[in-house]
Amino acid sequence: MTEKKFEKLTAVKGMNDILPPESARWEWLEEKVRGLMARYAYRNIRTPIVEHTPLFVRGLGEVTDVVEKEMYSFEDRLNGEALTLRPENTAGVVRAVAEHSMLYDGGKRLYYMGPMFRHERPQRGRYRQFHQIGAEALGFPGPEVDAELILLAHHLWQALALKDVRLELNSLGQPPERQAHRVALIAYLEAHADQLDEDAKRRLHSNPLRILDTKNPAMKALVAGAPRLLDYLGEASLAHLNALRAILDANGVTYTINPRLVRGLDYYNLTVFEFITDSLGSQGTLCAGGRYDDLIAQIGGKAAPAVGWAFGVERVLELLKEQASIPEPLPWVYAIVPDAQAMPQVMRALNEVRRAGVSVQMHAGSADAWGSMKSQFKKADASGAQWALIFGADEMARGELTLKALRDGVGAQSTLPLTSLAAWASGLSPAAASPA
Ligand code: ATP
Ligand code: MG
Repeated sequence: MTEKKFEKLTAVKGMNDILPPESARWEWLEEKVRGLMARYAYRNIRTPIVEHTPLFVRGLGEVTDVVEKEMYSFEDRLNGEALTLRPENTAGVVRAVAEHSMLYDGGKRLYYMGPMFRHERPQRGRYRQFHQIGAEALGFPGPEVDAELILLAHHLWQALALKDVRLELNSLGQPPERQAHRVALIAYLEAHADQLDEDAKRRLHSNPLRILDTKNPAMKALVAGAPRLLDYLGEASLAHLNALRAILDANGVTYTINPRLVRGLDYYNLTVFEFITDSLGSQGTLCAGGRYDDLIAQIGGKAAPAVGWAFGVERVLELLKEQASIPEPLPWVYAIVPDAQAMPQVMRALNEVRRAGVSVQMHAGSADAWGSMKSQFKKADASGAQWALIFGADEMARGELTLKALRDGVGAQSTLPLTSLAAWASGLSPAAASPA
């Protein structure tokens, strides 16, 4: 070996490692989500992390934060294609649904989980690689499916025992209604041109609705006085909103109508909503979604209505951390092996315990020593295991091993024939079983 010193490499700024024990919290959340999605008959979809750049430019809209300044885009060095790390996954799901004609036999309910990438300024609740879990229902025009999705999210917060989450709701109407509102909005903003910030000036004519979504506190008062899109909705749009409200009311889901809620992406119409918490400072939007009936056609598919939401996993876990504790998965059994020579036989025995569904952590030697009994017992204790299995050479020669209780009835010891180990493991309490 040479003595050359290498510079220490680190993760990319804003992109985090998720390490144990924190990763157990992620798995716990993902399991809850899978269970709930199954109960609502939503099925898993997995699309690539890299897509063609025009999918997002066309899908999300050119004049959006994401497309204007947040995308990780690059040119494929081999064929020159313009590619982008997905900043969100609705566009990818819609692309896949259209590409595989998934709606030919009726609507589809889908969900996904995975990393998204946006070049933002890293801060609490805002990262460059972050994770979303999302649900999309495609091919259904009615407000009952908007309601189903909102109930699904509401149900999830309950299953996670999340507190301090409120729902804000709005309708963006249909394009002609937005057009009429747009004219009034531009007139209003032009009349207050001196109060517009740089972003707002730039978007005044290209995407004035987006100005209502400003994060600039200095603009809040101006935005609060702007014409309300709700006042421009026609009968059909209002009926859609009212039908949704009736279902939410009947199901005890409380919400407030927020006429300023527009969402950061261009593809929404009719229903839009956000689940918000006031417990996480300024990054308080946990989950956001809405209807996007025009998106499929916009990316070249056969027109079909659709609605969906996505939540930020980091933000939900951050809120959970403040409110509840999540059990850490621990091994149930720790294997103590005084002599390394016994390992071939010991590992055969341990596999029987594992086949019985019980989690086993086995002793392993370090670079300079196998480890004394004393140090092995220390590690067994620190592992959190309920039982130590001691594979002593003399006992093994007699076809036996020793069991020692580490928690309940600490120290209680008994011997067991090796041939009975699998039966012993199968007879442990259900709490010992770990998922297959
Ligand atoms: P924000 O207004 O906070 O920038 P957004 O409107 O850009 O959010 P969406 O594109 O609707 O967010 O994404 C849905 C959810 O994903 C957000 O409500 C949030 O929980 C999460 N999210 C979005 N961007 C990030 C990020 N950079 N880091 C962590 N979570 C994020
Ligand atoms: Mg954003």
